[in-house]
Amino acid sequence: MEIFKEIGPLKAYLTQFRQTRHSIGFVPTMGALHPGHLALVQSAQKENTLTVCSIFVNPTQFNNPNDLAKYPNTLHQDVELLRKVGCDVLFCPATSEMYLSQDHIWFDFGLLDKILEGEFRPGHFSGVGLVVSKLLNIVAPQRAYFGQKDFQQAMVVQKLIKDLNFDVELKLAPIVRESDGLAMSSRNVRLTTDQRKHALIFYKGLQKAKTLLLSGMEFEAVKREIKRFCESEPEIKLEYLALADSTNLTLLKSVTKQSILLIAGYAGDVRLIDNLMMSDEN
Ligand code: AMP
Repeated sequence: MEIFKEIGPLKAYLTQFRQTRHSIGFVPTMGALHPGHLALVQSAQKENTLTVCSIFVNPTQFNNPNDLAKYPNTLHQDVELLRKVGCDVLFCPATSEMYLSQDHIWFDFGLLDKILEGEFRPGHFSGVGLVVSKLLNIVAPQRAYFGQKDFQQAMVVQKLIKDLNFDVELKLAPIVRESDGLAMSSRNVRLTTDQRKHALIFYKGLQKAKTLLLSGMEFEAVKREIKRFCESEPEIKLEYLALADSTNLTLLKSVTKQSILLIAGYAGDVRLIDNLMMSDEN
């Protein structure tokens, strides 16, 4: 695996590669890799001749400095995991390589960055838009791979691609879960053993919400019930449970064919998100 820390040499390498008319698949991450990330790498490998993964803990998308400071860094282990799955290229720049100054542009995604994660993490999606724009310009892939785990982020990136005419296809991959159902996340390593057990309530909450909605309960009542259900576990605080149209993230009050349930909350001081399509089997 070729490893680049600087933009110039990576671009030169990829330019040379592109001349042979092969396709590039790109998987942007913040590291602390787990099987969810590796599944994205494997999807990219299946559909492209060269797979590029990036590891960059992007400071502009952290609205909470404490969250940034505590974000896990396991670069050596990540490199080994990527080598093992046969990733071709890793780009792992320093912050100074990506940001020449602290003065940078801001994105406004309209409704998409005002609700849900956008409401609870002001500025987060502007930072996501900025770093994804930079990375897409640097790597110029044919396809970019994102996880359904961060569903709102994928919608933001889709809007970014469309509005800025990025010549790339966004590929969305399903959520990879632990055997008990907890959505895999780099932040899970920060959970204590007890918090790890309690954190499963978010996924259980999604499943329960789905069952209640399908039995005809009104969404406002479902929300109250799921808040009570989740917060009956120690150290759990629910931030939101939302029902939305999965094609545009418009918030809904009743179930449609394409609706998705989204949940966010804390286990101790670790913020977790998850979601479930109403049409999913589980
Ligand atoms: P992150 O490193 O958390 O920024 O995530 C990098 C990419 O991996 C994003 O597109 C995430 O949506 C995706 N991802 C993270 N966790 C999972 C998971 N459990 N299953 C599938 N994709 C995931």
